[in-house]
Amino acid sequence: MSIYELDPVEAITLAAVGEPGHRQFFLMASGQGRTLTLSCEKAQIQALIVRLHQMMEAQGIEVEGQAASSRRLQPGEPEWQVAEMGLGYHAERVASEAAGTEESAATPSGDDAPSVRFWLNHRQIADFSKQAEEVLSAGRPLCPRCGLPMDPAGHPCPANNGARPIF
Ligand SMILES: [Zn+2]
Repeated sequence: MSIYELDPVEAITLAAVGEPGHRQFFLMASGQGRTLTLSCEKAQIQALIVRLHQMMEAQGIEVEGQAASSRRLQPGEPEWQVAEMGLGYHAERVASEAAGTEESAATPSGDDAPSVRFWLNHRQIADFSKQAEEVLSAGRPLCPRCGLPMDPAGHPCPANNGARPIF
């Protein structure tokens, strides 16, 4: 398995594309003159944020994240779909590894899977986890009448006509 090292990472950000409730998530990192876009699942990012917080606590990293200052990147064509994410701590920096899967079912799993290691400092870790949290929580607003998630175009509100919600 070949591992590409993005070292140092200049910017890392999470982007969500699409309608609320049907959003696609992209992990983007730039460095060394290129921007890498990886397609990922919401649950993978949620798990990553939890592990980042645990690592920051374990390492005594006390940096306040500033999501607002993070650079916005536009998602390009994803290089691969993230299958696994890992974290490591080395020489006061965090390496987040995102491995993909080959599309072909004929490829034995893990053999030719592309993988990238993002090298991040404490500040980048804090900023990224805050920014990613904000993207994840920026889902559908709740309906003030029934408390269910609402699409921008509205929704069939059960408080309106007594009908049961579709979702
Ligand atoms: Zn409603």
